Amino acid sequence: MRAMSTPLITPDNRPAAKAAVGGPVRLVGLGRKEIAEHLENFGIEPKKVRMRTKQIFHWIYNYGVTDWDQMTNIGKDLRAKLSKAFSLERPEIIERQISVDGTRKYLIRMAPGIEVESVFIPDVSKTGALCVSSQVGCTLTCKFCHTGTQRLVRNLTAREIVLQVIIARDDLGEWPTTQDNRKLTNIVFMGMGEPLYNTENVGDALDTICDPEGLGIGRRRITVSTSGVVPEIGPMGERTSAMLAISLHAANDSLREQIMPINRKYPLKDLMQACRDYPGLSNSRRITFEYVMLKGVNDSPKHAKELIQLLRGIPAKVNLIPFNPWPGSAYECSDWETIESFADIVNRAGYASPIRTPRGRDILAACGQLKSESEKQRASDIRRQTRLKAESP
Ligand code: SF4
Repeated sequence: MRAMSTPLITPDNRPAAKAAVGGPVRLVGLGRKEIAEHLENFGIEPKKVRMRTKQIFHWIYNYGVTDWDQMTNIGKDLRAKLSKAFSLERPEIIERQISVDGTRKYLIRMAPGIEVESVFIPDVSKTGALCVSSQVGCTLTCKFCHTGTQRLVRNLTAREIVLQVIIARDDLGEWPTTQDNRKLTNIVFMGMGEPLYNTENVGDALDTICDPEGLGIGRRRITVSTSGVVPEIGPMGERTSAMLAISLHAANDSLREQIMPINRKYPLKDLMQACRDYPGLSNSRRITFEYVMLKGVNDSPKHAKELIQLLRGIPAKVNLIPFNPWPGSAYECSDWETIESFADIVNRAGYASPIRTPRGRDILAACGQLKSESEKQRASDIRRQTRLKAESP
């Protein structure tokens, strides 16, 4: 689904579009079907397209190869021809930062003016999770989220979503997929953007990310988080079988409307019904409700009780997120004791309610801080350019 009325730049990863642009077609990030189409157009014998696709897909996504000569089960001559028509290159990493707590943040240039951030968080689910972006900017304006103040540039293509995983795998040295003790085992769609305004590309990306012959990340290790785009919740569950997270943050409509304007369009009653109807929902496939702790806004015992009431009958877990302030934000983080007593009330009602330790704050990689670094980057670029201009004779 295309996001609202903002005009979108046409994605450039379709075969026809790439052929028109010229130069080698970039295969990394594409799904099986697209790779097969390219091979067919390239002139691979029709009865061999399936076999060649399988081989190339496996080399790209299981082994992470960056050189055609590494594809040893493809003849030398064919490899030479393929290497002229197709490239295995990755997009440019503009900036890579590592936090004192091991969190890694990547700023990736997918195309001119299309920069996205993804964050690898170690020690999640005993291993680690990659937080990926689904859009550049966002149309929604959740008040606690700095990303929400950045206008939408466009939806990311499926390829650009997959590439975020490839970049992290490269950086962590986790090829091939079959190696033991990989740290990147989980994916969360909690980066920039609302994934349910980009469902087609998110669904296609998951087909590639979850393919057992490639990156091999199980669908139950993928969490798609939404601010509450009600009509897309069920179809997304059917299409992807991913775990669902709801960015909730308030348990009554009037407060949630203040914090998350989308609640005016899709009120809590409808949102909770969509949760109850979520495909595959059970005690072993609970919905995660994200709840950011805002001092004096949504953190009282009364709010905790409202939350319990709201979740009644839904297999759920509540993640309590200490608010990560950003310059100009209207909120402060709740006191630690307040967060703990809120967690106690929710916990006593039978809902797991872990308090999420903020990760990567020193590199502005924590929840809601992603845009800050991009802005800083751009501001510093502008300062540098201004300085250079002033210094030039
Ligand atoms: S929380 Fe998500 S949906 Fe809301 S403004 Fe931020 S990026 Fe957009």
